[in-house]
Amino acid sequence: MKRSLVIRGFFIGFFLLTGCASQSPVPSSTATETRINLGTETATAFLPATSTATEQATLTFTPSPTFTPTPTPSPTPLWMGRERPLYTLRAELDFAKHYLSVEEEILYINQTGIALDNLVLVVDQNRRSDCFYLESLKINGVQIESSLKSSRLEIPLDPKLAPNEGLSIEIIYALDIPAKRSDEVFGYLISQINTVDWYPFIAPYSAEKGWLFYTPSGVGEHLVYEISDFDVSLKVSDNLVVAASSEGEERDDGWVEYEHHAARAFVFSVGSNLSSQVETSENARVTSFYYPEYEEESAALLEASVQAIDVFSERYSPFPYESLSIVQTELNNGMEYDGLVFMGRAFYDEYNGTIKNNLIMLGVHEIAHQWWFGSVGNDNALEPWVDEALALYSERIFYESIYPYPVGWWWHFRVDWFKPKGWVNASIYDALDFRAYTNAVYYRGGYFLEDLRERIGEKAFNAFLQDYAQSYAGKIATSDDFFIVLDRNTDKDYSDLITEYFK
Ligand SMILES: [Zn+2]
Repeated sequence: MKRSLVIRGFFIGFFLLTGCASQSPVPSSTATETRINLGTETATAFLPATSTATEQATLTFTPSPTFTPTPTPSPTPLWMGRERPLYTLRAELDFAKHYLSVEEEILYINQTGIALDNLVLVVDQNRRSDCFYLESLKINGVQIESSLKSSRLEIPLDPKLAPNEGLSIEIIYALDIPAKRSDEVFGYLISQINTVDWYPFIAPYSAEKGWLFYTPSGVGEHLVYEISDFDVSLKVSDNLVVAASSEGEERDDGWVEYEHHAARAFVFSVGSNLSSQVETSENARVTSFYYPEYEEESAALLEASVQAIDVFSERYSPFPYESLSIVQTELNNGMEYDGLVFMGRAFYDEYNGTIKNNLIMLGVHEIAHQWWFGSVGNDNALEPWVDEALALYSERIFYESIYPYPVGWWWHFRVDWFKPKGWVNASIYDALDFRAYTNAVYYRGGYFLEDLRERIGEKAFNAFLQDYAQSYAGKIATSDDFFIVLDRNTDKDYSDLITEYFK
């Protein structure tokens, strides 16, 4: 049938263009290829932006048969020798239709230490209707059926995937990007499209907790990312500005290639009215992307960001990437990804020409997440304090390092004013509203770190932060890890602080 031919031609084209075909691609004549059941004859391969609710409802797949890996004919599988998962993504954006067509390949190596009987992929944008359209899913070159339920894509493995064995996953899909809400980063505005959590990714696996797969609670962040490598090719129209997690290299054919290695995620924003300013320090090249009328505000944020990177590189560990993008958007808040942070327009509007305002303070907060979230990962859903308390306290460290005098202002404006209550180690599921959540996790977290610093002394506190940042770079740290590193840097008893702040 015509539709299948179109799909297959597209897929083969992917391999030719990217040069990353798996070791045993299935010939196009394979008759046993199983098709994902789109449930209706009228469904098109890549549904147009005007897809109807009826078509969306057909994205229910047949029950998943167990996947049986076929013997690998190639002597050297592509995943062999990899330290981290590799995501190769080739994406073409139709800006006017807010439609993203993607070909993805994941090379995964099982470093969990146990034999895995399944894989869990996070398809976060499939939580919403009319957005994610799966076209094709292959494991080691073999087309498989699978079950995608909301944002969870589970692939059973039989036989199990032994430790240090790997596989390749190829996915073709499209995103019909929705209009952006003010409380979410993802989505389109008239002049800007923010593309985050836009590809299926393998959830991290924890020996204690299993797959770290979570759904949103209404507060905080629910996604947990394993450190990975990203090779991304993007194509957008010439007249648009692209801000991304790393700096791209343009090829003659109009595609731009990005490498983002040892990172949690790759995100990008495309705008028709974004201007940019660049500042470089010895630690990073920082670009601020802003709406044209905000040049002064952007410059102030850029200067503070470069200063913050220098301070944190000295105090914690070297800045983990070569570049950083700061992107203005319509958002109630700021939002961190590694290599790129988003900042809400209202903060630029509030800017008062000093360093005592939300634009600088929250900008520095998002920069601090490059260490606490980016370099040192954590379970954002169950232990959000592990990154948020440290990102908040890093604001204090910025102010005391750069401009000593506003530290008192900062405590009052940022923390004390809210009269915070609650347990520092609350999860995003503890039924707290946004204010109660930030009061507990962020602000009481700040009080805890201030009391801890006073208790163990400046020298031990700084040694602890460096030890922790460096020991857990590229890993996912838990609350226990935090205290194990703390205990090897101090002999002081702080048990009363644990009783006071932690449930
Ligand atoms: Zn934060």
